[in-house]
Amino acid sequence: MSVLIFLDQSDGHIKKNSLEAASYGAKVAEMLNTTAEGIVLGTINEDLAGLGKYGLKKVHSLKNESLNNFDAAVFASVIAEAVKNIGANVVIFSNNFNGKAIAPRLSVRLKAGLVSGAVSLPELSNGFVVKKNVFSGKAFANVAINTDVKIISLNANAYKINEVEGIAETTELNVPIPEAKVKVQEVNKVVGEVPLSEAEIVVSGGRGLKGPENWGIVTDLAKALGAATACSRPVSDSDWRPHHEHVGQTGLAIAPNLYFAIGISGAIQHLAGVNRSKTIVVINKDAEAPFFKAADYGIVGDAFEVVPQITEAVKKL
Ligand code: FAD
Repeated sequence: MSVLIFLDQSDGHIKKNSLEAASYGAKVAEMLNTTAEGIVLGTINEDLAGLGKYGLKKVHSLKNESLNNFDAAVFASVIAEAVKNIGANVVIFSNNFNGKAIAPRLSVRLKAGLVSGAVSLPELSNGFVVKKNVFSGKAFANVAINTDVKIISLNANAYKINEVEGIAETTELNVPIPEAKVKVQEVNKVVGEVPLSEAEIVVSGGRGLKGPENWGIVTDLAKALGAATACSRPVSDSDWRPHHEHVGQTGLAIAPNLYFAIGISGAIQHLAGVNRSKTIVVINKDAEAPFFKAADYGIVGDAFEVVPQITEAVKKL
């Protein structure tokens, strides 16, 4: 019996969201009086024993180059075998793109109950009950998992990374790797930017910016703050910005500590992807814009006048 945490990696480094999942898993293991163990797939540049500082007692790895390109079906198969070999009864993912793709497949393979988008630690006083967001973040549901193996995917920023003293034992996994049904031919990486899903601060622009030629005010503020940039859906649909920046119900769901919404009306579909941000600052020239209802701070004004002033003020800090 153990809690197994999938440690998602990119270019040989464990993603921040997975470290949150590791700390969360370590706490779940403590609550269940068992151990937390990590699983890493693909070649990795990290000191795996050092991951003990996130509360992991063991880290299992399968350093096979074929696993460097993410394939949800292959990963689900490998993790399913690992779960059986290790005897894990709780499996935890980050609720990021990869976690969202693997967890349901694993759930089917293991006939295990899955709660996706968990926002807090499970409640164990009456079974195994996990709280999650529903209705695009407008409500919470408490969901009981009744199967022997339980799967949870944890929302980004829902649990803080907790460092402890400790060194993890490392083991090489010996499980079959199925042949992928699809082959990745080319990967075009977005380089030199703060990854949106992991950013602490996000500066986002909407149709109020009128066109791609005006995006300098967004990128300048983002640069001054060390932030990632994002946009509303019409902006990426119009090719003003790349699609990977689109946040909302049909885009990326993010939960940064600080979210700037510039010239975005605050439609429910946009809010669905950003309303878990810790602090929301809205800049809109229309005082009646719905986004102000969700804002912690609001500035009614013309973005073209307000935003450069904020950028200058930030640069002086
Ligand atoms: P607009 O609604 O046009 O708002 C522009 C805002 O800019 C206005 O509030 C205006 O007052 C303000 N403004 C104008 N000029 C200035 C200025 N100079 N200074 C300051 N403010 C100014 N949208 C998403 O974003 N993400 C999604 O994932 C998403 N999914 C969807 C899924 C479905 C099924 C559907 C039907 C819609 C979805 N949408 C999504 C679209 C959504 O409903 C809205 O249409 C969209 O979010 C509006 O984008 P916007 O706020 O940039 O533009």
